[in-house]
Amino acid sequence: MKTQQPPAIELLNSIFGYENFRGQQQTIIDHLVDGQDALVIMPTGSGKSLCFQIPSLIREGVGIVISPLIALMQDQVSALLQLGIKAAFLNSSLTFEEILRTEQQLIAGEIDLLYIAPERLSNERTLNILCRINIALFAIDEAHCVSQWGHDFRADYLKLSLLHERFPKTPRIALTATADERTRQEIRFRLGLEQARMFLSGFDRPNIRYRIVQKQNARQQLLDFIETEHDGDAGIVYCLSRKKVDDTAQWLNDRGIKALPYHAGMDNVHRQQHQHRFLMEDGLVMVATIAFGMGIDKPNVRFVAHLDLPKSIEGYYQETGRAGRDGSPANAWMAYGLQDVVTLRRMLAESNANEVQKRIEYNRLDAMLALCEQIHCRRQALLGYFGDTLEQPCGNCDTCLEPVETWDATLAAQQALSCIHRTGQRVSA
Ligand code: ADP
Ligand code: ZN
Repeated sequence: MKTQQPPAIELLNSIFGYENFRGQQQTIIDHLVDGQDALVIMPTGSGKSLCFQIPSLIREGVGIVISPLIALMQDQVSALLQLGIKAAFLNSSLTFEEILRTEQQLIAGEIDLLYIAPERLSNERTLNILCRINIALFAIDEAHCVSQWGHDFRADYLKLSLLHERFPKTPRIALTATADERTRQEIRFRLGLEQARMFLSGFDRPNIRYRIVQKQNARQQLLDFIETEHDGDAGIVYCLSRKKVDDTAQWLNDRGIKALPYHAGMDNVHRQQHQHRFLMEDGLVMVATIAFGMGIDKPNVRFVAHLDLPKSIEGYYQETGRAGRDGSPANAWMAYGLQDVVTLRRMLAESNANEVQKRIEYNRLDAMLALCEQIHCRRQALLGYFGDTLEQPCGNCDTCLEPVETWDATLAAQQALSCIHRTGQRVSA
């Protein structure tokens, strides 16, 4: 330990200016300071960064943070510098002189936190430097990038297994917000983190009320929902296609709801404008494709509505998660019909993904469908999907508030099957 360093909580107060740790932050920090490996799975915005920043300050040497996104890396480093932390980054945006300067500071022990792109870390030049200095820990951010079946696969992440081989004594922490079991296993396996303690938590957003209704006339249902529950509130409406985004925004405006479209087909200037207005003005409804939302931090979004089924529970969770960041009550509302499933399946069948990938996507879609058809607490099912458990039904989702009527369908099912049999299986659905 750096002898002069105070304990974690004092750093949290004095440097970061926060009163208390959130969730499992303290436990994770202690675990790393103690020299152990960790796999941290927590949703976006839950405070994963402190879990490696504070131990990097406490332990002797520099904390090396591997991050795939250059823009994010720069943001994080400027934020740290503002707090007075000696941070730097190494990526392809720097000139050779800048790289040299950072390397010299590294060797001189003048840096506490170094952010680095994966391809730069695995080159021999960098590794040689790393071998000569004290390293507090390795943090592998966005660790799901190591998964070949995920959406963000980065070949350079595969090389990170060398950290384990070259620096067996240095603690490593892998972090991600993607939690499906398969990805988790792959992270452990590919990064040599089989023995790492897993910290998984905080997927619950108790102030969000989840509701999934049968689609009849979806637009009209949406209008009723907004008029009765969200008059004058800011909200996001997600649609699958650009055309539907444009049509829906227009339709809402015609009915007195201030709405703006947002999708990747619009020119940059208009997109920026709409995003800016959504952030600055009160009570605007953004009608958008999933292109909208990354990095949007508007705390008082009161509802997120889906007019089309998301392709996966991960997508649904991420999109609905943009509601109620301020902690006040918010609604996640979706109109869904079986036609949505047919459409998504067709799109998948026609996509040029390979067979293995398609199978994974079908499975994701099936899980999403199961959430829609859920007759028990929707939140329990949602959290269960992420491996997070909720002991009791939540009392704040549609199935809790208005339990679904169920009936014993054994006889009806037998009759239907016998009917299928007698028609010689010629009639579908
Ligand atoms: P993640 O990496 O999980 O998406 P971040 O580490 O970026 O999340 O943290 C999200 C926000 O929460 C940041 O603004 C961060 O400063 C803040 N935050 C993190 N930990 C705490 C805490 N213990 N108390 C208050 N705010 C915190
Ligand atoms: Zn519930």
